[in-house]
Amino acid sequence: MTTTTTLLRGARTGPSGPLRDVLVSGGRVANIAERIPAEPGWEVVEVAGRTVLPGLWDHHVHFDQWIMARQRLDLSGAASAAEAVALVAERLRTRPPEPGLPLVGYGFRDALWPDPPHRDLLDDAAPEAAHVPVILMSGDLHCCWINSAAARRYGWSEHPTGILRESEWQAIQQDITNVPAPLLDGWAEVATAEAAARGVVGVVELEAPWRLDAWTRRVRAGNRALRVVCGVWPALLEEAVARGLRTGEVIDGTGGLVEMGPFKVITDGSLNTRTAYCHDPYPGLEDGTHPHGMLLVPPDELVPMMEKAWAAGLRPAVHAIGDWANNLALDAFERVGAQGAIEHAQLLDDADLGRFAALGVVASVQPEHAMDDRDVADRIWAGRTGRAFAFGALLAAGARLALGSDAPVSPLDPWITMAAAVDRGRDGRQPWHPEQAIPIEAAIAASTRTGRAELAAGDEADLVVTGADPFTASGAELRAMPVAATMLGGRWTWREAV
Ligand SMILES: [Zn+2]
Repeated sequence: MTTTTTLLRGARTGPSGPLRDVLVSGGRVANIAERIPAEPGWEVVEVAGRTVLPGLWDHHVHFDQWIMARQRLDLSGAASAAEAVALVAERLRTRPPEPGLPLVGYGFRDALWPDPPHRDLLDDAAPEAAHVPVILMSGDLHCCWINSAAARRYGWSEHPTGILRESEWQAIQQDITNVPAPLLDGWAEVATAEAAARGVVGVVELEAPWRLDAWTRRVRAGNRALRVVCGVWPALLEEAVARGLRTGEVIDGTGGLVEMGPFKVITDGSLNTRTAYCHDPYPGLEDGTHPHGMLLVPPDELVPMMEKAWAAGLRPAVHAIGDWANNLALDAFERVGAQGAIEHAQLLDDADLGRFAALGVVASVQPEHAMDDRDVADRIWAGRTGRAFAFGALLAAGARLALGSDAPVSPLDPWITMAAAVDRGRDGRQPWHPEQAIPIEAAIAASTRTGRAELAAGDEADLVVTGADPFTASGAELRAMPVAATMLGGRWTWREAV
């Protein structure tokens, strides 16, 4: 419930046109006009020419993985074992983990280190914290490096080096995601507030298998920073159907903030692991067992699953990365007659571009992945990258785009996401396939719930006030866009500069 009426005075609401006043009342945008006289009792906010946009959405996140990743120590910059140990020692002194939890680090690459990593180095790092288990994961996740406290905890006290490889550290890998719910909820409180501070009003939570009850609990306990739409995976499809929850249904007692999301199914692998399912074989894998990548859910399984979901009112969200997987996913949508989304849609046949609009399938894409993976794509999708991350071509073919981060794969920050879509460059590098860039207006529209880049009277009062003009910003400026304030349903969730 909101009782406040707020008048935003002097807002830029699009790329051009005069400054306007935006009136918010009863949780909705009541009016947008050049001059709205204020009435007694209203909150009047001088926006002073800043841009006011619809509130931003991240259409693909794994929120709990994101908040766990943010607790972990980044070791990707360590150039030696000694440097990594120094980072661990500093963290143990300044920000030790909660009692009972290990300190988890990630991203170390020891192939070129002058000194080999060893358990003893970690034990000597911070003798006063010798009881804290330390678990450091390598950048490729093929090994981990532990101290003696972790070795004791996981039954590896006799291990000669504390470097556990491959299956040796599987149990540890599972255990470190076992964070008690109250702690996780506390971390979520911080992370949702930070998202609001970037202008985010909502996320589509696609973490497996179903985070609906967790988010219901968090919101009922008072976390009201975001709207959260929670997708369900095949493992719990039966349960979702039995509970009669349809996509878009608002969960009671959450003030309208938690909604049932789509039915998420993963049909192929990924680009980096060369498991995305493609028409052309991967260079070097021609004679292997999976030259085209991996089709995890073939059509004869996918179609019945989608039929079941669709009949129960659940919109499918189908993960498809390779061109062949996308082709089959679109076929499945066509056969079922369902509308929904394809998640990722990274490599597409030209002939499939127009099918998104024709079938009512949203292309739910993560532009920053293109920045992370452009070099990999140039190598293993050589000759085909003109139709990889083809946002411009999708838009030209009439597709509706929905932008997201896939956090923790890339940061939960819609400005980074939009910058990648608009600029297709990063860190001063030349734009990658700039012909596939999309205009900022399209990037904003694909980051809102309405699909529009501008607010309109009658909309939910979800909005963001930016600190600089997004319509004239460079790619680098977009990435770092200051956010002056964020409003959700007429209530400020972030307010700094207005
Ligand atoms: Zn994902």
